[in-house]
Amino acid sequence: MSRTVYVNGTYMPEEEATVSIFDRGFVMGDAVYEVTCVLDGKLTEFDGHMARLARSLSELEIVCDLTRDDWLEIHRKLIEMNGVEEGGVYLQVSRGTAGDRDFHYPPEGTPPTVVLYTQSKPGLSADPKADKGIKVISVPDLRWHRRDIKTVQLLYASMAKMAAEKEGKDDAWFVEDGFVTEGSSNNCYIVKGGRIITRQLSNDILHGITRASVLKMAQEAQMEVEERPFTIEEAQAADEAFYTSASAFVMPIVEVDGVAVGAGKPGPVAKRLREIYIDESRKSAI
Ligand code: PLP
Repeated sequence: MSRTVYVNGTYMPEEEATVSIFDRGFVMGDAVYEVTCVLDGKLTEFDGHMARLARSLSELEIVCDLTRDDWLEIHRKLIEMNGVEEGGVYLQVSRGTAGDRDFHYPPEGTPPTVVLYTQSKPGLSADPKADKGIKVISVPDLRWHRRDIKTVQLLYASMAKMAAEKEGKDDAWFVEDGFVTEGSSNNCYIVKGGRIITRQLSNDILHGITRASVLKMAQEAQMEVEERPFTIEEAQAADEAFYTSASAFVMPIVEVDGVAVGAGKPGPVAKRLREIYIDESRKSAI
């Protein structure tokens, strides 16, 4: 069934939605995005995602007049029109188009291109992968150095995921200067002696909205958290590993570069955090 999507102020069937061939997002990867998860037909972590969107736009000097309440209305309308119970809403804002390809930014006042659409994923919160755990490989982190900005320049992340799949694994961890930065589309953690270890925030990683909430919930549940970089060898010798993202919540990792982590099955910390996170997200969804 065709979805109703949103393009620059208009709701329309997905088959009718178009964007200029000169759009900066299309030609230059000059666009930012957010993915907000939907549980029980409601948005989880909405304000966190909108705050990060505002920051991404501001870092790139993309001007977009839509307010938090405008965004909320569009998200809610799309969820309702498309009958989404579980899944997500994808949102993208590009710098728009000045009418031709040009390295210079378009003149001031050029409207951004705003596109939103829903992705229905029934059963998302009961993903059987979380019961089994997933396997990752490591690859060098060859991305640009402003990973804190959520841009649509995802080619290398996509290549990394394909490389993992080619080896029969599920995902890839990026490694830079000997340390894990993050996953292809998630933040990474290991657990050793009851302590949760995850890389500290900087321009090297995306400031995950799920990461912020999970760390807060972990501390509230009296778990110890240490924010510092870790190596692949440390992960392989850890008791547990997991990743977090808006659409996967907390995902246990049971193998890193062919070596089983801990008992080679999802560990108690990841399982508990997943439960707490999904529970709390449902409660605070809007
Ligand atoms: N790191 C990267 C590179 C990502 O692409 C994502 C999500 O898309 C994350 C981390 C996790 O961020 P969030 O928890 O806000 O979804």
